[in-house]
Amino acid sequence: MDASRKIALVTGGSRGIGLAIARQLAQDGFDIWLNYRSNHAAANEAKKSIESLGAACTLLPFDVADEAAVAAALEPLLARNTPYALINNAGIRKDNLLIFMQNKEWQDVLTTVLGGFYCVTKTVLAAMIHAKRGRIVNIASSAAHAPVPGQTNYSAAKAGIVGATRSLAAEVAKRNILVNAVSPGFIETDMLEGLPIDKILPLIPLHRLGKPEEVAHLVSFLCSEKSSYITGQVFQVNGGICM
Ligand code: NDP
Repeated sequence: MDASRKIALVTGGSRGIGLAIARQLAQDGFDIWLNYRSNHAAANEAKKSIESLGAACTLLPFDVADEAAVAAALEPLLARNTPYALINNAGIRKDNLLIFMQNKEWQDVLTTVLGGFYCVTKTVLAAMIHAKRGRIVNIASSAAHAPVPGQTNYSAAKAGIVGATRSLAAEVAKRNILVNAVSPGFIETDMLEGLPIDKILPLIPLHRLGKPEEVAHLVSFLCSEKSSYITGQVFQVNGGICM
């Protein structure tokens, strides 16, 4: 890695929105620490596409909610470098009406989304505080702001991310670390698999799904000098589905 380039750690960066964010930040001049969970083939493809943009890319396979795995992967890197930006993007959904929901469906979503935010952010934060600079962008969801039947687990987790974003922003502002959240609506990725898109489209004022790059553009802005007076905010990228 080139010491003059800033580093961005993107969780869940091997596919979908995370990959678009990693590619955009690579174009912005960041080297990328790219986390994913287990799909090594997708991660290797992601690494190649990021390197083709002239950035270095370090692959970091770990479960964001596994405290020991997070520490084992990140602490050796943090001993040498501090990321300027952390994008907490890794997430899953396991939809079910609450009346039928299994404990595991509830726990898995809460643990990955909220537990993942906690484990990764806490691990990176000490180094950011020491460096007295940094940007943290948390990927929430429209489900944090508007009702989605079948997603009480996911809505609870993403609303938690919104609350955590504001509280953490207040905690670390004096250390020159800015913390914001981005809430996507329906974005064309693997995560939409199985959803009734034909029923969803008429509900979206722009009448189309979003592209991962349309989320990445806002994250890019929030990691740039242009957003230096913005912290503790939540921005929606959703074609107008929730205003
Ligand atoms: P995808 O399913 O396309 O990609 C998920 C990424 O997260 C993959 O890289 C996956 O790695 C990784 N991942 C999943 N679980 C873990 C874990 N426990 N630890 C580490 N990495 C993990 O998701 P999207 O790109 O659609 O979503 C990205 C984020 O945006 C999520 O937080 C999601 O909730 C949010 N979002 C998405 C919306 C959409 O419409 N797509 C709408 C609103 C919010 P691997 O492939 O190895 O499993």
